[in-house]
Amino acid sequence: MKVRTRIAPSPTGDPHIGTLYQSIFDYAFSKQNNGDFILRIEDTDRERLKEGSEINIIQSLKWAGIKPDEDPIIGGEFGPYRQSERLEIYHKYIQELIDNKYAYYCFCSKERLDELRQNQIKQKIQAKYDKFCLNLKKDEIDKNLKEGIPHVVRLNVKPGEDIIFEDLIRGEIKFKSDIVDDQVLLKSDGYPTYHAAVVIDDYLMKITHIIRGEEWISSTPKHILLYKAFGWDIPYFAHLSLLRNRDKSKVAKRNNNTSINWYKEKGFLPEALINYLILLGWSHPDGKEIFPLSEFISKFSFDRVNKGGPIFDIDKLRWINGLYIRSKSINEIKKYVKPFLNYEIDNQKLEEIIKLVQDRLKVFSEINEYINFFIEKPNIDMKMITENYPINEVKVILKHTIDTLIKNGITHESETLLREYANKNNYNIGNFFMIIRIAITGKTATPPLIETMQILGIDEVKERICNIIDK
Ligand code: GLU
Repeated sequence: MKVRTRIAPSPTGDPHIGTLYQSIFDYAFSKQNNGDFILRIEDTDRERLKEGSEINIIQSLKWAGIKPDEDPIIGGEFGPYRQSERLEIYHKYIQELIDNKYAYYCFCSKERLDELRQNQIKQKIQAKYDKFCLNLKKDEIDKNLKEGIPHVVRLNVKPGEDIIFEDLIRGEIKFKSDIVDDQVLLKSDGYPTYHAAVVIDDYLMKITHIIRGEEWISSTPKHILLYKAFGWDIPYFAHLSLLRNRDKSKVAKRNNNTSINWYKEKGFLPEALINYLILLGWSHPDGKEIFPLSEFISKFSFDRVNKGGPIFDIDKLRWINGLYIRSKSINEIKKYVKPFLNYEIDNQKLEEIIKLVQDRLKVFSEINEYINFFIEKPNIDMKMITENYPINEVKVILKHTIDTLIKNGITHESETLLREYANKNNYNIGNFFMIIRIAITGKTATPPLIETMQILGIDEVKERICNIIDK
């Protein structure tokens, strides 16, 4: 058996981070087993379609380096890979279910269904279709169809059965068929519902392992009933926990960072994002935190998948991204930061600056905050610079600093001399150098001071210090 996995996103908006999360697991498991990973577009919900969403999904997966073997663009043996192009297939299979009494036409009006629902809610019983149309006579059905009365096709769920499946992550899961609704399979617009289309496609596309989000667990009994009705082998199921926010709520669209594009635009590295997402859902057998996708592929096993709701922590992601940035060459970083730069900087200077800030940079889009004081004079907050010493003393310190730098150059020797001077005059070393740091950069946290001043050059350093002395 060739392992085949898939993701089946609906093109209803920006490519969701949860789609990438799920893709990584589907992709890795298929690759571990020399199998195929398929991207299918589930666009049967015509009301929620969003133009551009499909290509956005395809491109964001490409950016992340998760490459499907088959998808709507590259095609494949089992296409089409867009559900809207497979309507005839669904009609044929749903007809087969009707013929075999596993499904039936339902002509109930919206008003009747609403009333039924309201009554059930009042009686505090599960809201479910009452099989009213199950017993329609053949000639009645034919007449209704001929007259073009709007209708759907429903799955005929027999009560009193146990529906059991073995989830590769969660173990045995059991449902009573009594709680399963007579699910609509074909809608009145002629489109199948998700439930019908997903089962027919997963079967026809020879999907062996359905690895998807836990929100689909409650749909799985419907899917299993459909597999059984068709007489098809049931694939393996594995339901991943959904990503959660710190407050345990679902990482949902209302947070601005649910789109994969957001991470791209902020200047996260795809390999760092992937590493982080893997870490959320799976624990490395050696307890490692930093490892590439290739290692995940070789070490993956379902028993190490996180069953709880992993908390998405942007700070941890930033930290991991910083580590990945550190491992890049100066040249690579230069390439990544260039689109974000607000300034024209010549190559050599940019390289020198990157060398200094590489260890502190967490995401490329923040590059300007790290380098702005190299390019333009900072605004100095006089309150900040006089926090520990009165203005007169600050002036003396700065005067002595610039004299030392002019005499001995911007060198580590000067730094030693300044340190000695500070000691001799009983200045706290940290506070002493903080004054110089603020005067030069406007900030309290910067790359090493001497190296920063070396890039600025003595004239610029002198000007910045003198500006403060004059203030
Ligand atoms: N179209 C569904 C979604 O948008 C697919 C669910 C599944 O993987 O079965 O997530």
